[in-house]
Amino acid sequence: MVIGGSLGGLAAGIALREAGWEAEVFERSWGELEGRGAGIVVQPELLSFLEERRTVRSEVGVPAEARQYLDPDGRVVRVERRRQLMTSWGKTYTHLRALFPEECYHRGKELVEFEWGGDGVVARFGNGGEEECDLLVGADGTHSVCRRLLLPAAVPEYAGYVAWRGLVREGDLEPSLERIFSRKFTFFLGENTQILCYLIPGPSGELAEGERLLNWVWYWNVPEGDGLREVLTDSDGKIHDYSVSQGRVRGDLVERQKAIAGEVLPDAFGRLVAETDEPFVQVIHDLSVPRMAFDRACLVGDAAFIPRPHTAASTAKAVANATALAGTELL
Ligand SMILES: Cc1cc2nc3c(=O)[nH]c(=O)nc-3n(C[C@H](O)[C@H](O)[C@H](O)COP(=O)(O)OP(=O)(O)OC[C@H]3O[C@@H](n4cnc5c(N)ncnc54)[C@H](O)[C@@H]3O)c2cc1C
Repeated sequence: MVIGGSLGGLAAGIALREAGWEAEVFERSWGELEGRGAGIVVQPELLSFLEERRTVRSEVGVPAEARQYLDPDGRVVRVERRRQLMTSWGKTYTHLRALFPEECYHRGKELVEFEWGGDGVVARFGNGGEEECDLLVGADGTHSVCRRLLLPAAVPEYAGYVAWRGLVREGDLEPSLERIFSRKFTFFLGENTQILCYLIPGPSGELAEGERLLNWVWYWNVPEGDGLREVLTDSDGKIHDYSVSQGRVRGDLVERQKAIAGEVLPDAFGRLVAETDEPFVQVIHDLSVPRMAFDRACLVGDAAFIPRPHTAASTAKAVANATALAGTELL
């Protein structure tokens, strides 16, 4: 039984079924998840996982031909010719969902507790349901219930900064911005701040020019306490734990951040941030666990480790965990 039906949970479910297990995925959300993500840098682990299962490389994402670095005046000061594939969370989720049987993916199933004995694990869900299994795989992300039950002392720690993020449709970009950013993975490393951007597939996985999205991520220091609470308070006054989604960030905070962008970022990035309709915010956390395997349960993906996003490693690591798990002699 896999708890969590995002990228880590799906990869674990797919790999375990291929290894002969009758893996089922239990996901707490009722709705479809695919429209909710932004950019993901495709690392070799993810690419091999998809290609080994007959996904065509050109269908995985959008190629960036080089990395380029801007200085504060917007001049390109360094170019590294390095081809890299960029994708979206939604496109990756769609590819993985297609590899996992629909009837084994259960929605609206929020794990609240589990216990195990000699014969197996009993998992209990928020709606009152109960399921038995031989092995429980906790792929339930940053705020994992599985981890809380197995390792109560292991909690994510605030890293001292947030990521402001945004998406702009390629076809809506000003031509001057399109010229600077298209086909490139672009960075600006400023004082105490960093911003990057790259093209990803469109909202429904579109790969055609014009329909893709320019995805930007801007790391910004926010003090813990009142500062962080303010950023995490949405337009309805609700305080979130670790992200405020598109359309929910307070308008005054968006305007303030856009004004800061105009002051501290190179002109092209400042204009890109200003052009973005509904930027959103994610808090950066650190987490590592002392162990991942426990008798009849284990932790994979973000439930176990959260690498900083600069490493672009979370999804690759979740997929690598899934592959390693399926290759392990279990029980
Ligand atoms: C909707 C969504 C959009 C994302 N977009 C991006 C993105 O644009 N860029 C990026 O780099 N990363 C994104 N991520 C995070 C990315 O998927 C992970 O960092 C990485 O791939 C590791 O995935 P994971 O499956 O371990 O964790 P996660 O992707 O966090 O998935 C955890 C899953 O477990 C489910 N869950 C949580 N608690 C329970 C419970 N008690 N019972 C049952 N299910 C539970 C959650 O609903 C979620 O689907 C996104 C995650 C989600 C869920």
